[in-house]
Amino acid sequence: MKIHEYQAKQIFADYEIPVSDEILCQSVEDVEKAADKLGLPVVVKAQVLAGGRGKAGGVKLAKTKEELVDAANQILGMDIKGYTVEKVLTAKAISFTDEFYVGLTIDRNTKSVVFMASAEGGVEIEEVAKDNPDAIHKFVIDAEIGLMPFQARQIAFKLFDDIKLVRQGADLFEKLYRVFMDTDASLAEINPLVITADGNLMALDGKMNFDDNALFRQSEILEMREPTEDEKTEIEAKEKGLSFIKLDGNIGCMVNGAGLAMATMDIIKIYGGEPANFLDIGGSSNPQKVIDAMNLLLADKNVKAVMINIFGGITRCDDVAKGIISALEQMNINIPIVVRLSGTNAAEGLEILKKTNLVTVASMGEAAEKAIEMASQTV
Ligand code: GDP
Ligand code: MN
Repeated sequence: MKIHEYQAKQIFADYEIPVSDEILCQSVEDVEKAADKLGLPVVVKAQVLAGGRGKAGGVKLAKTKEELVDAANQILGMDIKGYTVEKVLTAKAISFTDEFYVGLTIDRNTKSVVFMASAEGGVEIEEVAKDNPDAIHKFVIDAEIGLMPFQARQIAFKLFDDIKLVRQGADLFEKLYRVFMDTDASLAEINPLVITADGNLMALDGKMNFDDNALFRQSEILEMREPTEDEKTEIEAKEKGLSFIKLDGNIGCMVNGAGLAMATMDIIKIYGGEPANFLDIGGSSNPQKVIDAMNLLLADKNVKAVMINIFGGITRCDDVAKGIISALEQMNINIPIVVRLSGTNAAEGLEILKKTNLVTVASMGEAAEKAIEMASQTV
């Protein structure tokens, strides 16, 4: 789960990480009122769940009333990476001498929380990682003991020369680590962390992502949720007992079991295709699930063919076939579907599907090949 910058900075502020004075706004009038309160100059910042807002023109400095109204008018309603800007943050403009990057995330290689710090702040960290990976210092944190004060100072010494800033930095890093752990975050990032003109550290941006599997014990975080369109679909699927993750390809997958769903995506890729989703309809034989799953797949306009891959165990292939038949009856499906049934009652299932014009195949490989071929022919 992702949250907006203004929400991340509210959490930072709760932990006494310094942030600038700022007010969330939904209209040009709001922005004007906020600027009256804060005093010019201010920075108007798009609040969308995407990074790189600065580059996209979604962060603007306003020194005068006119610039302020212009900035608010330009940014509200703007499209950034597919998100429409509905809210902006009006923040007191901060003069700074240096920008840094600090971030906490989970490193799967070391199975640990890792602290990343870089003097190359203000630009997207992915770019630094590509062009100048040595500029990112990484510190693996022992999960048992957490971020130790000496380690926080070590990190701070990598970034700052001035001992006053080292102390401030170490203190701030310990707070950031506490934020990360307390909220079950998967990312807590400050970019840029700046040295202000008066020589103090301040978080000018904030980004946090959270582990969806921990949200059940993070009610305050969950309240901040503003699901994106894709997330809405995924939440809806979960309520229907389906595990669904949207991807960018054009082959819709309907599979029983997470392992088989992973293997199905792999095999589509091996044959040169791109899966449109991960979808596990689970281990029961409820025809309604097939209908719900088909609805999900067809709601995605990118889907040009559907590959149904069922390995019957507790799930009986004839039940799935019945579900497919009712889906075909109830819905107006005009994209090609290939079905591979194997395991419990596969023969019965295939018999039922004979009266449809669906393509049935015997192996996963054939199913993938056929789905890719059919997708390429669908307009
Ligand atoms: P991002 O592009 O989505 O990461 O948005 P940021 O919040 O990081 O803003 C982009 C850039 O705008 C920052 O790297 C800063 O250089 C600049 N910026 C943001 N806030 C201020 C501010 O208060 N004063 C000044 N001078 N620059 C700012
Ligand atoms: Mn940033």
